[in-house]
Amino acid sequence: MFQLPVCPYCNAVYHYKEVKKISSEKSHKCYYCNKSFSVEKMPGTAVLWSIVIIFAILINVSILLVMTFFNIIPLLIVSILAAILGFIFIPYFIGFKKENKKSRK
Ligand SMILES: [Zn+2]
Repeated sequence: MFQLPVCPYCNAVYHYKEVKKISSEKSHKCYYCNKSFSVEKMPGTAVLWSIVIIFAILINVSILLVMTFFNIIPLLIVSILAAILGFIFIPYFIGFKKENKKSRK
């Protein structure tokens, strides 16, 4: 299910760290064939984030239920962990697309 994107021209494989770095760019030149492609977030990103957020809320609520006195620290830790988890999966939701000269907007 989880797959890192490959170059749309030459299918060059990108490593996790590279994808993460590229994910903040709009377009990128392939290190192998030197052609530029556009970097797009796939629609799955929203789904991923909703899952992470729901997961975090559920854990927070269950912590609140078992907690005898209010303590913000475990809630913060859970939220931060959920955010980290979401960020870890971001490269799997990045797609490389052939650059379109006639880009529609
Ligand atoms: Zn390439």
